[in-house]
Amino acid sequence: MQSFDVIIVGGGHAGAEAAAASARTGAKTALVTLSKETIGIMSCNPAIGGLGKGHLVREIDALDGLMGRAADASGIQFRMLNRKKGPAVRGPRTQADRKLYRNFIQDALATQANLTIIDGEADQVLTENGAVVGLALKDGENLKCSAIVITSGTFLRGTIHIGDQRIPAGRHGEKRVEGLSHFFESHGFALGRLKTGTPARLDGNTIAWEQLEMQPADADPVPFSLMNDTIKVQQISCGITRTTNETHKIIEDNLKKSAMYSGHISGVGPRYCPSIEDKIVRFHDKESHQIFLEPEGLDDSTVYPNGISTSLPADVQEAFIHTMPGLENVRILRAGYAIEYDYIDPRELTTSLESRKISGLFLAGQINGTTGYEEAGAQGLIAGLNAARRAGGIDGLVLSRSDAYIGVMIDDLTSRGVTEPYRMFTSRAEYRLSLRADNADERLTSLGRDAGLVGESRWARYCDIQTQVDDLKTSLRGVNLSPNEADLHGIKLNHDGVRRTAYDLLAFPDIDFDQISRIWQQFSNLPDRIRDRVANDAQYAVYMDRQSSDIARLKRDEQIIIPSDLLFSPMPGLSNELKMKLNKQRPSTLAEAARIEGMTPAALALIVAHIHLAEKTAKYALQNTEPKVGVA
Ligand code: FAD
Repeated sequence: MQSFDVIIVGGGHAGAEAAAASARTGAKTALVTLSKETIGIMSCNPAIGGLGKGHLVREIDALDGLMGRAADASGIQFRMLNRKKGPAVRGPRTQADRKLYRNFIQDALATQANLTIIDGEADQVLTENGAVVGLALKDGENLKCSAIVITSGTFLRGTIHIGDQRIPAGRHGEKRVEGLSHFFESHGFALGRLKTGTPARLDGNTIAWEQLEMQPADADPVPFSLMNDTIKVQQISCGITRTTNETHKIIEDNLKKSAMYSGHISGVGPRYCPSIEDKIVRFHDKESHQIFLEPEGLDDSTVYPNGISTSLPADVQEAFIHTMPGLENVRILRAGYAIEYDYIDPRELTTSLESRKISGLFLAGQINGTTGYEEAGAQGLIAGLNAARRAGGIDGLVLSRSDAYIGVMIDDLTSRGVTEPYRMFTSRAEYRLSLRADNADERLTSLGRDAGLVGESRWARYCDIQTQVDDLKTSLRGVNLSPNEADLHGIKLNHDGVRRTAYDLLAFPDIDFDQISRIWQQFSNLPDRIRDRVANDAQYAVYMDRQSSDIARLKRDEQIIIPSDLLFSPMPGLSNELKMKLNKQRPSTLAEAARIEGMTPAALALIVAHIHLAEKTAKYALQNTEPKVGVA
């Protein structure tokens, strides 16, 4: 029987990061997936990043993951979203060439040391005494291991819906899996159904592009990865069309034929990524919806019409698509569809993404109720790392909400669960001024290095950049001017007699490096990456000081561990409602308990008192069971 430290099930976005992360730490890792050819494919939109999601990609990159580098190697339309807003909420995004993206991921995994890739279907997790001991494949082969990460995406009892057609499938043209669903059910896991959808694919050669408004890429594409200074892939433009009155009428007239509206689908879909029929119903007053026509590759004429995912029958899709400007004569290559699948309630997991029921079993990605490549990749990386740590007998690494968007997401999932597919937004992070996309390396690379995730070349590059950033800050703090001197350079400051350093000046919203370098020439011609990082740090410095006391409190509460056997029910003074919530959620730290809806400072103080009491009792019991010196 083949034996591994860690086995990853699934070669999607979570699985690829999990396999690479586990193997990077030195664990003997296997990736078992339905087909090697589909590793790293993008099931839906050919794009990486966006608001909130771009932060996750930068964090994956800071931990030496694959996604950022894959996006840089395949990005054909880089755009910085929210460019006019503050750096904390800007969202790096690129449309990707599907083939280039998949090739990058497949090459990276093929050359990853300590990793074996196996074509096969995982059927059952093998356990002994509540812990993972191996994996049974559908073909009858068994593999031995100490930890498993399951990242099965939309494949668990997946059903595709197109009108009233129902096709058992994990994704277009791929079989679904059932064995793992049975495994979870038989072990008492809470399962649910969710759904997501994808639009039809169009033949770009039959689109009247000349009639359409075009959206170009940014002139200065900003790479996702710290390892890249420039983007070498050719950049293209996307077309923009709109739904018309006629489009809306066809959809309204055929609503009953939509799988969603005919009651065929019980799963809940992503509210923030609604189907076109959902948009027409929910935003009835809106006369038109913008649709982006995104080419799927440089040498591929397939076009992804972003904004019209649907489960209407194919003939209705054909009819409504032809009503949009530029698409009158378009050829439809493949109908859109909705897919419904099993997910596991993520409250079954601890914050290291390990099952509370079975030691050594980790889950990541769509199976945890999330949607999106970035959310999946980020969870995969942490689950892969922690599975390797579990196999090596080390506690899991948990990122705090104040460390990373990854920490925010995992905490949200494991403490609150999901009622619809979860996607990341900057608004989910309470410390978003410090969790910027541009400072992900500073927040995480050193931590990743300690965990064995970050390789030599990235570490050297990170140290070099960090030194440049620190040196520049020191130089900026080394020069200053008075308000009168500032006047001479056309900079208006409060005439308070205070001399301000160049670094202080950068905190003013209307002062940038161009002005600074006109006063002090040594600050001209700096590399963009270093200059922007320092300018952003300067801009947020004052807010960061205010935020740091909140973060310190959170960190302190995260250190207060609630023993897993602490009984909440007998605690006098706790409301029955809180007792019920605490018993259900079983928070492992005071910080987690503090986030329970309805929690009060008084209740937290009570819990702390009981933790201390439990500690004292345990100490007393220990003292009284230890043999006394000199007693026979
Ligand atoms: P996947 O990328 O689905 O990968 C799952 C992997 O597991 C596959 O490699 C599969 O072969 C393998 N696998 C499954 N079961 C087994 C088994 N038993 N044994 C071995 N291997 C197994 N996201 C968005 O952000 N926006 C969208 O609009 C959107 N629309 C979508 C529409 C559709 C139709 C689909 C299918 C997905 C959509 N997604 C969308 C979701 C996005 O594709 C996923 O969030 C992302 O791919 C999840 O990554 P994952 O790694 O969890 O799963």
